[in-house]
Amino acid sequence: MRPTYDVAIVGSGAGGGMAAYMLTKAGANVVLLEAGPMWNAIADGAMLTWPYDSPRRGASTPTHPFGEFDACIGGWSVDGEPYTTAPGTEFMWWRARMLGGRTNHWGRISLRWGPDDFRRKSIDGLGDDWPITYDDMKPWYDETDRLIGIFGSNENLPNDPDGVFLPPPKPRCFELLIKQACDRTGVRCIPSRLSILTKPVNGRAACHYCGQCGRGCKTNSNFSSPGVLIEPAQRTGKLTLLTNAMVREVTAGQNGLATGVSYIDKSTGADEHVRARIVVLAASACESARLLLNSGLSNASGVVGKYLTDTTGTDVSGYIPRLADHITHNEDGVGGMHVYMPWWVDNKTLDFPRGYHVEPSGGVHLPQYGFMGEVMRHVPHAAYGKALKADYRHMYGATVSFSGRGEMIPNADSYCEIDPHVVDRWGIPVLRFHWKWADYEKKQVKHMQETFRSLIDAMGGQPLSPMPTAQEGYGIAAGGEIIHELGTTRMGRDPATSALNPWCQSHEVKNLFVVDGGPFVSQADKNPTWTILALAMRTCNYIANQQKAGAL
Ligand SMILES: Cc1cc2nc3c(=O)[nH]c(=O)nc-3n(C[C@H](O)[C@H](O)[C@H](O)COP(=O)(O)OP(=O)(O)OC[C@H]3O[C@@H](n4cnc5c(N)ncnc54)[C@H](O)[C@@H]3O)c2cc1C
Ligand code: SF4
Repeated sequence: MRPTYDVAIVGSGAGGGMAAYMLTKAGANVVLLEAGPMWNAIADGAMLTWPYDSPRRGASTPTHPFGEFDACIGGWSVDGEPYTTAPGTEFMWWRARMLGGRTNHWGRISLRWGPDDFRRKSIDGLGDDWPITYDDMKPWYDETDRLIGIFGSNENLPNDPDGVFLPPPKPRCFELLIKQACDRTGVRCIPSRLSILTKPVNGRAACHYCGQCGRGCKTNSNFSSPGVLIEPAQRTGKLTLLTNAMVREVTAGQNGLATGVSYIDKSTGADEHVRARIVVLAASACESARLLLNSGLSNASGVVGKYLTDTTGTDVSGYIPRLADHITHNEDGVGGMHVYMPWWVDNKTLDFPRGYHVEPSGGVHLPQYGFMGEVMRHVPHAAYGKALKADYRHMYGATVSFSGRGEMIPNADSYCEIDPHVVDRWGIPVLRFHWKWADYEKKQVKHMQETFRSLIDAMGGQPLSPMPTAQEGYGIAAGGEIIHELGTTRMGRDPATSALNPWCQSHEVKNLFVVDGGPFVSQADKNPTWTILALAMRTCNYIANQQKAGAL
């Protein structure tokens, strides 16, 4: 018979990996249940694979929709694990199924949130304030920076705080042109902030600029949960890993406290159970809400599944003639942008309330299947044979793209709930999504589109797509498409309006915690994962202290 563990953690992505690291280091006996298989970038990644090493040349597969060499096993649909959408709803849900979850191929854009991001209602009356402030989070952001490693530059910006940064890599040619265009159009452009090592940190080697982060780094130089958090947790001897373990429910005793979790061993199909004194959910915001709803726990407030948000997004690409036929030069770098544009406008001067940041891309990369698909769009004579090759050489590296990523305000029409009619392959009821963008978000995306077009113009280029119309929502991405779902188990001081207290602890089940994006009270004009990591660290430090004090 299995022992009773001190802690059972469900999910091994950003939140679950940090929980495993913190709690094993604090001396707890931890069992980590992960629905997907084992995965380790050093052994399993395709960082140095050439396209011609595969007959598919890197084309996508059903379990690798971002390309065969991409590190993530999962996608917009997962075999045997459906979800549904309410009539009229467009919502996309990306799920990873592997050790480390989405951290295996995420963009590593690691933006610390600022003081205003925790108190938006106090500023513009919309949404809700968090029950904690930036000052509560700052030590945990600093510690996350030191533990994992992040590059960036200290800029003394009021709502994009400085961090404990490694030196940023130099901008590449196309990024210098983007910076010039930003300077001309009044857009702030600074070194990006990515959790990739430009110097060795905690025994991990510095990046060698192969640019293939999405495939998994074989030198462990970028952040993934298995390489940076779970591996050191395993070395403590305190971690039991159960992979291919699909958790069905959190179980509870007569006293209302959690007793452990029930799960399906996917390799045998058998129903199993592990007992634990504390349960930590980190299955991703929507999956943790699903677990709570299916368990009938921690939802007296009725907020579980509500307040679901995603980041807003839209993209514009442009052809920049100055970059065509360029002299071959070294464009190596990290697998992501070297510069970015944090939000730079005062919303009081605009017709929408919240901001966005800009993620530029371009340059020359290792060609793989489908690369430069746009060559036909602006070289009308592109055909085949030598002429086509010449067109590709002419155009290679001559396009840039801008992606806007902005803040959505929670609304009553965007939430998930249990679909009463549909179950997955193990008979577990699935989620049904409801979604609606408000005018706030559409106006913000219109601003993105206009900004990106003026930047392309300032670079002397032409956009590769027409300005989307109001009927097209100005090109706003579908709900869920930016893969930053948050808010479904939100924290607060009042148990009537929140599922968790300010320590991400269930108001109702004292030994139950959530450490993914569920506890977030709002989005920000920044991506969420650095805050998921820092918040999980803070929560687990609290759990360890409470356990030591005998309060848990
Ligand atoms: C392509 C891509 C790019 C991204 N880029 C960025 C970026 O640049 N910056 C940023 O901040 N964020 C980015 N994100 C988002 C980021 O990946 C997520 O915010 C982060 O991984 C969330 O961590 P998590 O622990 O909540 O969930 P996940 O990383 O999704 O991990 C959840 C884990 O739980 C497991 N699980 C789920 N249900 C169960 C169950 N019932 N039983 C057992 N296990 C279960 C899953 O298999 C998975 O391994 C990106 C995401 C994608 C897909
Ligand atoms: S660019 Fe750097 S961090 Fe990314 S995979 Fe290559 S070596 Fe690793």
